[in-house]
Amino acid sequence: CRITSEVWFLWFHGSLRFCFACYTAGKMSSISVPPPKCLQKPLTVPYRHMFGPGPSNVPSRILEAGANPVIGHMHPEIFEIMNDIKSGIQYMFQTQNKMTLAVSGTGHSAMECAIFNAVEPGESVLVAVNGIWGERAAEMAERIGARVNTIVAPPGGCFTIEEMEKALSKHRPALLFVAHGESSTGVLHPLDGIGQLCHKYNCLFLVDSVASIGGAPVYMDQQGIDILYTGSQKVLNAPPGTAPISFSERACQKIFSRRTKPVSFYLDLSWLANYWGCDGKPSRVYHHTGPVTAFYSLRESLSVLVEEGLENSWERHLKVAEYFHAGLESMGLKLFVKEKRLRLPTVTTIVAPYGYDWKEITSFIMKTHNLEISGGLGPSVGLVLRVGLMGCNSSRENVDMVLAALKDALKHCHKSKV
Ligand code: PMP
Repeated sequence: CRITSEVWFLWFHGSLRFCFACYTAGKMSSISVPPPKCLQKPLTVPYRHMFGPGPSNVPSRILEAGANPVIGHMHPEIFEIMNDIKSGIQYMFQTQNKMTLAVSGTGHSAMECAIFNAVEPGESVLVAVNGIWGERAAEMAERIGARVNTIVAPPGGCFTIEEMEKALSKHRPALLFVAHGESSTGVLHPLDGIGQLCHKYNCLFLVDSVASIGGAPVYMDQQGIDILYTGSQKVLNAPPGTAPISFSERACQKIFSRRTKPVSFYLDLSWLANYWGCDGKPSRVYHHTGPVTAFYSLRESLSVLVEEGLENSWERHLKVAEYFHAGLESMGLKLFVKEKRLRLPTVTTIVAPYGYDWKEITSFIMKTHNLEISGGLGPSVGLVLRVGLMGCNSSRENVDMVLAALKDALKHCHKSKV
């Protein structure tokens, strides 16, 4: 037995020495996956006109803000930046809510943050579905065991206050979801009156403003919205990855008297509230590593909005959209949303030109004009082309560029039917 272990000892050390010698001589390596050749080349990213439904172009001022040094996500300077962001979101949302912060994630993370915190398993949720965002909200609520009911409007449509009331009184939900800017169909859903109606039925009013905030009026407090969220990459022109969200006092009361814990630790509002200094506690506890460089960009993008002024930004988006819509109609193209007041000023849906393959049009424009526009999404696939002119992209010059690209595409792309 002793002899065997000595033999093993000698063999093992001999092999080790052999491996080390080979390694140092560059003949053999301990790793089996070689360094990828692609990562030995420098990173190159082209410039593109980002005129799809998002992300939009990020101006150099905001990109540069994001290039500031990384410091600790719990350093006092970062807490100050987070406080500035909170004030900026309160302005953008027109709310006094203390529970206002940015989720570390894209728009979907804010959607889940809203639903996962506000709804407990078995509760009733009502979703107004007039495009993909209602569909997704319903799916999220279903996944956490809510009893989900929907009211459904065809793509391009929306709901009257009477339809909302009928559904609220029938389903008695704990939460109603409405997409203010339905980016898949180009509809701007009217919000006035719905909040008050929700409160009459003891229901929280949740609004998705990812595609609309900053580009169309929203008054969170005045309109009785209990939870409002958005994303960073549309009108704000910041890179994707942070999602502003705010909760009313009523929403907080429900959320902080839950019987069960929210399914997600990452999105648990009590943790996020502490990290963002919204819970009044004297000290903040580590929850997750805040994406500090994304906070810098978000802060800068909110500064840009503050400098222009919310009302000026709404007005500019509306004027540019009207100019764009007139240009499209004069080319013989049709707008997908018939009623003018329901047209989203940030994302325009154009009826897919008859006889053309929409994919050929979008690829032609990308290849020839270095410009992104997109086709439909979810229920609008095949029905529309979508053009987003958001934040700094919302200008007459950009409209002219898109119209010229579309004209060129209609001239050069294959037309199958007469
Ligand atoms: N809601 C709406 C209205 C949107 O337009 C989007 C993004 N297209 C989202 C939610 C989801 O946002 P994200 O892609 O940032 O997760």
